[in-house]
Amino acid sequence: MSGFREAVINLAAIRSNMAHLRALVGTPHAMAVVKANAYGHGAVPVARAALAGGADWLGVADIDEALQLRDAGIDAPILAWLHDPDADFSAAIDDDITLGLSSARQLQRAADAAAELGQTASVHLKLDTGLSRNGVHENDWAEVFALAAALEQVGLLRVDGVMSHLSNTSATDDQQALECFERGVALVRAAGLAPTLVHLASSAAALRLPAARFSMVRLGITLYGLSPFDDASSADLGLVPAMTLRGRVAQVRRVAAGAGVSYDYLWRAPEDSTLVLVPLGYADGIPRQASGSALVQIHGATYPLVGRVAMDQFVVNLGADNPGVAVGDTVVLFGDPATGAPSATDWADAAGTINYEIVTRIGHRVPRLHIHG
Ligand SMILES: *Cc1c(COP(=O)(O)O)cnc(C)c1O
Repeated sequence: MSGFREAVINLAAIRSNMAHLRALVGTPHAMAVVKANAYGHGAVPVARAALAGGADWLGVADIDEALQLRDAGIDAPILAWLHDPDADFSAAIDDDITLGLSSARQLQRAADAAAELGQTASVHLKLDTGLSRNGVHENDWAEVFALAAALEQVGLLRVDGVMSHLSNTSATDDQQALECFERGVALVRAAGLAPTLVHLASSAAALRLPAARFSMVRLGITLYGLSPFDDASSADLGLVPAMTLRGRVAQVRRVAAGAGVSYDYLWRAPEDSTLVLVPLGYADGIPRQASGSALVQIHGATYPLVGRVAMDQFVVNLGADNPGVAVGDTVVLFGDPATGAPSATDWADAAGTINYEIVTRIGHRVPRLHIHG
């Protein structure tokens, strides 16, 4: 039944993860972050499942991602916060997309677009509280907040929210950022603005820094059932990983002791061995850095990857005897560890990266199969 390559996305898990998180965090509002094709899980079906689970906002980076959700008929509030210098604010405002804005220039462009449309742009001011990425730097707060207030007064925009993002570096660093954010929110109010949505926490702080919850949390990685912490698994957090990445055995082959495997012969069979060819490679997002270290699951048992991950394929060693694996059988690369499968976090550890990257980088050649539980 399984495809050559496929990522099975359990939408019931998305829905129940959101319901669980929302109850745990207790904020008046909860945003499901579905940027980057919902971390590789498929933006539209994930957005619908997250809304069904109790999210009342959707968050994306780019306006194009927001417009795709609207085009699919999703009418929930959507926030987009990272903009091309020439971003089409008109299309966004006309489609009722809320803009997270980080500079006077962006505020002015949004106001110009709103004026042309004869509408009012809904805006969240994005503050830099330490990450040094986008967001208005503290040095520019007074000027930018005054401009926002002036534009609000003439009806071109409405500051509905204030936001920032934490570095998750240490308790001390996050505490400093939190205090900086509180100074910023106070200054926004002092400028005569009355934002109702105040939000700072993504998954990690939503779970472990209650003071950062304010009126909304922005949930990404935990929505997908993965842990942002080194010291807690999905199960520890009451979450179910939503993505299972799998493929079909393309070949089974016996090799003699000493046979080299894949480019550069990083691995040579130490004994007569049975090898299985798995048709996923770095074109599909399988990290080449995981060469020779990750595990996969076949018929409920796990086996090691051997040799280099190539563009389209890698090799798994079943050992001296074939336990009964045949061409066409299903290979699970990662999924819910409760099923005995390796996790996305196991692959991240094998590749020296984070689970976020493992799921988000899954390539276009891998169809997403959305199931409802
Ligand atoms: C990606 C992102 C999030 C989600 O972070 P998680 O750690 O995945 O929960 C929240 N807020 C902003 C601004 C982001 O860019």
